[in-house]
Amino acid sequence: MADADIHKAECACGQLSVEVTGEPERVPICGCRFCRKRTGAVYGTGAYFNVAQVNAINGDSTVFRRGSDSGRYIEGNFCPTCGTTLFWKAELWPELLAVAVGCFDDYAIRKADVAVYTEHIQDWASFDTDIPAHKGARPQ
Ligand SMILES: [Zn+2]
Ligand SMILES: [Zn+2]
Repeated sequence: MADADIHKAECACGQLSVEVTGEPERVPICGCRFCRKRTGAVYGTGAYFNVAQVNAINGDSTVFRRGSDSGRYIEGNFCPTCGTTLFWKAELWPELLAVAVGCFDDYAIRKADVAVYTEHIQDWASFDTDIPAHKGARPQ
């Protein structure tokens, strides 16, 4: 597989990194409480890769698990040195690993395909509006 298909993301201090291959299966923009708190940003964007696409995870991470409105958990892995939540898993999608899009060092991650929990995003924070946007969860 060509090098162009390999994407590496790392935390703010560089201690924790993850390398993935290929295209993410899902790229949601999310304004839920977890995504806002884990980033400190007005919304979070995660690239969800199949766990088979994860080549390597290097460095130490601490796990933080929290519940969600649906009753399922989300488990975030953050760098104990700088605090960046680099990747996380949702109980809903056990076969996927989400990587924080802002932590990639290349700009080849494809555009987000959906926005969810938009009612929790500040009114002045806008994003590409030609993707489906939902005030709450993505309709099943
Ligand atoms: Zn770090
Ligand atoms: Zn979220």
